Amino acid sequence: MPDMTPPVRWEADRTPRPTAWPQPPLPVAMARGAAGRCPACGESPLFAGFLRIAPGCPRCHAPLGDVPADDAPPYFTIVIVAHVVIGLMVVVEQTWAPPLWLYAATFLPFTLVLTLALMRPVKGATVGLMLHLGLQRDAADSVGATALFPAGVSRTPGTAAGAGRPHA
Ligand SMILES: [Zn+2]
Repeated sequence: MPDMTPPVRWEADRTPRPTAWPQPPLPVAMARGAAGRCPACGESPLFAGFLRIAPGCPRCHAPLGDVPADDAPPYFTIVIVAHVVIGLMVVVEQTWAPPLWLYAATFLPFTLVLTLALMRPVKGATVGLMLHLGLQRDAADSVGATALFPAGVSRTPGTAAGAGRPHA
């Protein structure tokens, strides 16, 4: 006799979580972040340095510094720059075929400038995306940590749960 119990299907908890700060639509949040403004209210600067995220928005109190963008912005920047630069190099080679030194003299500085120009907007858009999705560290601590790390299980070896959180 086969087991007739229906399969259990895991469903993500999609209940909206109320926040103390405004929650604009995703494109608005990402565009504000790409423009270097707070993704939540669009009023205050997102960055406190070239790539350092401000700890919080002084106007709407969105926890900008708690969004762990980590390696995602450099990854996205590399993907975009590589497609632009390699695509252009293929077109130039097919149509003009310049000498190699000309490639080095033009495409190396172009790659550097394009990378530096895109790092801030890409990081800002990533922070806007993550804030929209509720992926700041405190939310992860309160929502996922209990499921992933039951009581008594330390998240980091040698430290108490939640202690010593790294900062971006
Ligand atoms: Zn704000």
